[in-house]
Amino acid sequence: MRPILKRFVNDDATKLRLFYAPYYKTFTRQHKTRVWLDGKELVMLTSNDYLGLCWHPKVIEAGQKALAEWGSSPTGSRMSNGSRAYHRMLEEALAKFLGKESCHVFAAGYLACMAAVNGFAQKGDLILADRNLHSSLISGIKTSSAEAVRFGHNDPEDLRSIVSAEEANRNKILVLEGIYSMEGHLTPLKEILSAVDLNTTLTVLDDAHGLGVMGPGGRGTPHHFGLQDKIDIICGSMSKSLSSVGGFIAGSSALIEYMRTHAKQVIFSAALPPASAACAYTALDVLQKEPEHIERLWKNTKRYHALLKELKLDTWGSQTPASPIVIGNRERAYAFWKKMLEEGVFTVLSVSPAVPIGKDLIRTAVSAAHTDEDLDIVERALRKAIKVL
Ligand code: PMP
Repeated sequence: MRPILKRFVNDDATKLRLFYAPYYKTFTRQHKTRVWLDGKELVMLTSNDYLGLCWHPKVIEAGQKALAEWGSSPTGSRMSNGSRAYHRMLEEALAKFLGKESCHVFAAGYLACMAAVNGFAQKGDLILADRNLHSSLISGIKTSSAEAVRFGHNDPEDLRSIVSAEEANRNKILVLEGIYSMEGHLTPLKEILSAVDLNTTLTVLDDAHGLGVMGPGGRGTPHHFGLQDKIDIICGSMSKSLSSVGGFIAGSSALIEYMRTHAKQVIFSAALPPASAACAYTALDVLQKEPEHIERLWKNTKRYHALLKELKLDTWGSQTPASPIVIGNRERAYAFWKKMLEEGVFTVLSVSPAVPIGKDLIRTAVSAAHTDEDLDIVERALRKAIKVL
């Protein structure tokens, strides 16, 4: 066998994934909060569709209409093939919602969050990055020519000590998340911002899990803290509360126009397709006109968190609908995951090295779409699963 092929067949991480086999499961059907695996109906407890708008009739109708009107594809990148009216409509609506001048939408949140860093950073800059950043932001950092330093997760004092050891006038880019998705942690935004000099720092915040969830009317984490004017760039995904796919970057017009010239993810990659843009646009409209979805999300989250607390499960201090259940050991985490599945609930197993050693966990998330009956099934499953620990 060619030596390079040996690398692929002998890879420990792949062998481990195939051994535990909880990933890439193929559901044969999906309806609202339910999925069907090998003929068995399960409650989905790990969807990012926080507001449950994926099945909203207006969202579905908008996607179908856009397909009929614009076809299936954007046919290329916007730099070479031009923007479409549906891109501009969505960008204007998102910018207004987020309280920013301008916005650019991408075909994936991963691309948007990468571009939110490497579309602005240049050689000589210092990137200040929280240790637990999402892979997309790390990719943005790695593909930029700037120097990067990681500070302790949600640790303003560590950040302050790093900044104070640096040259005061050096250009810096602070990179944060509003809600850290694996842990469900909210950023202590005021304290983090107080640790840097905003006169020399560009602030970038990924609010993939905060949009539609936090802040007045779901405007996101910066609005939750009333600090939206201190964040230069808000990036995120449309695959969570906006019940579609794609990503966005919002900021001042000058910043967005600069990014359109400099981010490779915009210049060399096809634009957001029509149906995805229309679904996200309509979900954004629905979330503003029907506040009951956010209310229901938090009602469900409250019930779920109270249950996890009663069962004395370790949620890593989650304050949000994204709620890990830290088991701390790979074998026990797997047994827990399997029991949940047997009891009719689908969750995600996340073991080291995806999480720090000793933090092997089951990732769960509640949604506004979960009914009381769904949560009863989840409760029964959890009460049985804790017995395998
Ligand atoms: N940022 C964060 C914090 C995320 O959790 C994700 C997706 N899990 C992304 C960016 C990427 O978004 P997408 O799935 O739309 O590519």
